[in-house]
Amino acid sequence: MHELSVCQALVQQLEAVSASNGGGAVELVRLRIGPLSGVEAPLLQRAFPLAAAGTVADGAELVIGVADLVVHCNDCGARSDALPNRMLCGACNSFRVRMVSGDEMLLESVELATPAAAPAEML
Ligand SMILES: [Zn+2]
Repeated sequence: MHELSVCQALVQQLEAVSASNGGGAVELVRLRIGPLSGVEAPLLQRAFPLAAAGTVADGAELVIGVADLVVHCNDCGARSDALPNRMLCGACNSFRVRMVSGDEMLLESVELATPAAAPAEML
């Protein structure tokens, strides 16, 4: 299952983020996926808890947003939004466009639990 390996890579990233920020548990993860990333948000949602089990991201909430598909026009040089089934320049309608973004998966933000309380507060 493709989405499981995507989630496993994501969890590795989360462990690195946590480790460099005091090692707190991951509470919330915001991801942005391009419409042409080849990743299905619902499948990611289902695979994430499996990949996160027993890691710092165990029990974390995953919020997935869909990124805009942006193209650069080779004819007029404009940059515009496009649709996956309609990859045309928004300015001149040319089909000679190059995708600038839309096939990526970005880790947008990570919220970590407050690191372990200071000794004085544990009394
Ligand atoms: Zn154009």
